[in-house]
Amino acid sequence: ADRFLTPKPVSRVEEVQDRTVRPQTLADYQGQPVVREQMEIFIHAARNRNEALDHTLIFGPPGLGKTTLANIIANEMGTQIKTTSGPVLEKAGDVAAMLTNLEAGDILFIDEIHRLSPNVEEILYPAMEDYQLDIMIGEGPAARSIKIELPPFTLVGATTRAGLLTSPLRDRFGIVQRLEYYSVDDLTSIVSRAAALTKTPIDPDGAREIAKRSRGTPRIANRLLRRARDYAEVKGDGAITAAIADLALNMLNVDERGFDHMDRRMLLAMIEKFDGGPVGVDSLAAAISEERDTLEDVLEPYLIQQGFIMRTPRGRVVTDHAYAHFGLLKKTSE
Ligand code: ADP
Repeated sequence: ADRFLTPKPVSRVEEVQDRTVRPQTLADYQGQPVVREQMEIFIHAARNRNEALDHTLIFGPPGLGKTTLANIIANEMGTQIKTTSGPVLEKAGDVAAMLTNLEAGDILFIDEIHRLSPNVEEILYPAMEDYQLDIMIGEGPAARSIKIELPPFTLVGATTRAGLLTSPLRDRFGIVQRLEYYSVDDLTSIVSRAAALTKTPIDPDGAREIAKRSRGTPRIANRLLRRARDYAEVKGDGAITAAIADLALNMLNVDERGFDHMDRRMLLAMIEKFDGGPVGVDSLAAAISEERDTLEDVLEPYLIQQGFIMRTPRGRVVTDHAYAHFGLLKKTSE
């Protein structure tokens, strides 16, 4: 990824560094109060009954804590987690192998669950509903189907948008949680907590400056913190103040709203090439040479949440905020 503000991990190194700060318990999971309260109750109840937790679907933009939450669920349930992803499970046999490896109460975590192939999905339906595996062995006239009992388990699926799932799959989740972009306050505590864990001196205003420019996304906040720390150590005395954070982020071309060149390019394209819209996703993606998925999963949701773009039945339009951000005047139709 050539984008500094990408909400996906930029490297293996980043994933490893991230492990130091990743929360392990619901109590350490910052923000998302609704999700936290509900999951606390559901987990507690399932544990008391000594049952597997209901299948849980978690959706929300990348970097918001879906994988983290799946791991926390396993931790709080006191069970193991097996992790895989939609594109990895190519054949029915792949998912059958994972399912037959589960122990009672285990979590099977499938990231990008909207990318399962139809034949893999078919296997999951009876597995989710009745803990049963129905597989065909052999081919042609000799083919027969066998049934295997599975231990009670919990499927935790993650996806960027719930609408991407087929409805038979979506209907088989008892618990559906939607993660929201984090508030500046919540991101400030995420940054302060991560700084403490990595022994990085930071003052509250420094943490807040980083939080404000993290696109509502914990993964980005943690990344900005690491870069601000480098800056503070080389250009300052090691402590991250608001002024140091500001200089570090300006150097990285992250503006005061937390937008980067991609955000600016998209907004400017809408203003300059499409007169502010409405414009369809495909035309917009083509105009800024970006993939439609990235536009819909990453760029657009944050700009909508921040009130810079609106979705209308005829396409996306920019709002007055976008014009003001660039110091531009909106053309009037008269
Ligand atoms: P996703 O699976 O949605 O892409 P992750 O679960 O991998 O996102 O989250 C990315 C990183 O952000 C985590 O490793 C963790 O360090 C941090 N993070 C995510 N959610 C939280 C949270 N609620 N509180 C604190 N840190 C979080």
